[in-house]
Amino acid sequence: MKKSIFVTQPNMPDLEEFVPYLQKIWDNKILTNNGPMHHELELRLKEYLGVPEISLFNNGTIALLTALQAERITGDVITTPFSFIATANSLVWNGVRPIFSDIDPSTFNLDPSKIEAAITPQTTAIMPVHCYGTPCDVEAIEKIADNYNLKVIYDAAHAFGVRNSKGSILNYGNLSVLSFHATKVFNTFEGGAIISPDAKTKKRIDNLKNFGILDETTVVAPGINGKMSEISAAFGLVQLNHIDGAIAKRREIDGLYRSGLQNIGGITLPKRTTDYALNYSYFPVLVEPDYPMDRDSLYEHLKSIGVYSRRYFYPLMSEFPMYRGIRSSDPSNLPVASAIASKILCLPIYPDLSLNDVGRIIDEIGLVT
Ligand SMILES: *Cc1c(COP(=O)(O)O)cnc(C)c1O
Repeated sequence: MKKSIFVTQPNMPDLEEFVPYLQKIWDNKILTNNGPMHHELELRLKEYLGVPEISLFNNGTIALLTALQAERITGDVITTPFSFIATANSLVWNGVRPIFSDIDPSTFNLDPSKIEAAITPQTTAIMPVHCYGTPCDVEAIEKIADNYNLKVIYDAAHAFGVRNSKGSILNYGNLSVLSFHATKVFNTFEGGAIISPDAKTKKRIDNLKNFGILDETTVVAPGINGKMSEISAAFGLVQLNHIDGAIAKRREIDGLYRSGLQNIGGITLPKRTTDYALNYSYFPVLVEPDYPMDRDSLYEHLKSIGVYSRRYFYPLMSEFPMYRGIRSSDPSNLPVASAIASKILCLPIYPDLSLNDVGRIIDEIGLVT
């Protein structure tokens, strides 16, 4: 292959479609602070996602930080080691200690049967991640949280639009946090959001993301600047016009990968739930010991022909220097996550990836001997 194929590529609308939104911003000169684009995007996302309340943010990480502040989380929080580093970092920035608990080998999400053993007297909350947009076992997590009086804050950065017959996956837990980063299914250049259950909670979150300012002379909390700009909100409005088509294209690519890779020895495809409408945000495979080369060699081989896959999430968060010293980071506590991290490879998937290129990637993986 001559041209480079990256693991993802943002879905760009025609520039002409964006220009009228820019014109509006130039006309009204409102660039941020809860402007009309911001307001409209909140309304349209609430409707599209099927959630009670949404607060937009400048990125997903600030949204995670603010979600923990809004729920006044302290002490220890149980989380997965198999995630992007922002998950654990957001805990530490709140003075909270992450407690890593092992994952389920088929969903790559927190294994509910392991959570109870990880609870300490200081535990106040669970922060699960819907990894790759695959839903966590939300019912089991809710039961544990109820039994032990814990809050649940979902890092739902991968779970935009994921829903079952009862509705959005984002409606579980106390809060859910989305990322609208350029690499995610729905993007606003940089951006994020917190889904909350009621207007009172949204109000607290909106206050925290605006420095804690209530009015001109009243500041009620040590808040932060988490506001989404008008230009990002405008881009979100344009993205939203095309999101269903973009997810449909991802589904088609996902299907082609599945049928092409399922019979290649040593390549395992994660099991797929049929209970949920998914967003096909990633295409993870496991490179098993009986594949002719190891995971890193396949990663390098693909790179040598211009195909840039990614080893998400290797190393585990618990392997990085700032988390290695925590007792729960010991690999003996995380056998499943450690094994998955050594075998995982995410293949390119994005709406503009041609089926022809997908076919060539499949062929390349099948030809390795
Ligand atoms: C992308 C991502 C984040 C961070 O979101 P940003 O918008 O990039 O700050 C957090 N958690 C997970 C699991 C992510 O993939």
